[in-house]
Amino acid sequence: MTYRSGRHFLQIPGPTNVPDRILRAMDMPTMDHRGPAFAALGKEVLAGLKGIFQTKNPVVIYPASGTGAWEAALVNTLSPADKVLMFETGQFATLWERVASRFGLDVEVSPGDWRSGVDPALVEVRLKADTAHTVKAVCVVHNETSTGVTSRIAQIRKAIDAAAHPALFMVDTISSLASIDYRHDEWGVDVTVSGSQKGLMLPPGLSFNAISDKALAAVKDSQFPKSYWRWDDMLEANDKGLFPYTPATNLLYGLREAIAMLNEEGLSNVFARHARLAEATRLAVAAWGREGGLEVLCRNEEECSNTLTAVLMPEGQDADEFRKVALDRFDLSLGNGLGKVAGKVFRIGHLGDFNELMLMGTLAGVEKALRLFGINGAHGGVEAALDHLDGTPGG
Ligand SMILES: *Cc1c(COP(=O)(O)O)cnc(C)c1O
Repeated sequence: MTYRSGRHFLQIPGPTNVPDRILRAMDMPTMDHRGPAFAALGKEVLAGLKGIFQTKNPVVIYPASGTGAWEAALVNTLSPADKVLMFETGQFATLWERVASRFGLDVEVSPGDWRSGVDPALVEVRLKADTAHTVKAVCVVHNETSTGVTSRIAQIRKAIDAAAHPALFMVDTISSLASIDYRHDEWGVDVTVSGSQKGLMLPPGLSFNAISDKALAAVKDSQFPKSYWRWDDMLEANDKGLFPYTPATNLLYGLREAIAMLNEEGLSNVFARHARLAEATRLAVAAWGREGGLEVLCRNEEECSNTLTAVLMPEGQDADEFRKVALDRFDLSLGNGLGKVAGKVFRIGHLGDFNELMLMGTLAGVEKALRLFGINGAHGGVEAALDHLDGTPGG
């Protein structure tokens, strides 16, 4: 290996680039996690997180990847053989389904085309048919990171209400929180699952459950054995700013800084920034598509993700071979296709600590790498994105 000058472009849809402010904040000596200084930090991050999830209810923090928080949501509220409704929006929904199946839940999967979100009308029809209320939970991935499709959580809540169904509503926001508008309380979500390494701009290692009163009440009836993931132990310790076991102390310093940065910018500005840069990305892909044959994977304009764009390669072109060109030639990491779309799509992450020039560098790298790869019709994308930025306020 020889030294590569200049900066590596990490434009996968998570883990995302960690800003220097957060790196500096974490560069601290190890602390006593049962002492008073830690309790102050614990209280501060636990309170601050509520604003990010837009909730007044508790948010628990696990020293775990997002997958742990998926498991925690299920085992705290449900019992073996309970029926849960899940939707095959893509790879992450499929993986959450696998967690549920492994625990012996009776998972009903609504099939999907990996190019669309969850259809609220379908949720309403299915729940209306369930007059015996056998469905105990409806689980949705807000932003499907394998396809770049965002499901409409507020409308799905309305569908559950229209069916007057008592099922718990659980939502995975691992790649949307702090990037795309998300309202745990207003949208009546019972358990929100999230993680540290995407919109929150932190390294991997923390994950979260935001918990409604209804979800908390469901704990009493839950028959799953559980220990590490127990909400009751967690909430009891959290009351004093502490944790039932050693927390990831240095990541919590980073979390405190991330919350401060998001509040300085203002959450609504954070969402607007992501929306604007995402639209510029989609316009670039549309330009590459005209003669180059590329396409945004998301079918439905109102469901296109503001945190990543999955790009469908022209028929017969290997997306992973293309990604290799981008990495070798420009030191640009793009996300690979996962599961059913492996080799067919590449993904551009445009979330977290990200701005106009980072986007332009990324799009220029993709456009040039596409041509080096032999897709000569791929041009005009950078220009189309710049035109969009010129014509919209922000930045
Ligand atoms: C990244 C991601 C996950 C997985 O999180 P890990 O931290 O890798 O366990 C789950 N769901 C979504 C939507 C994701 O983007």
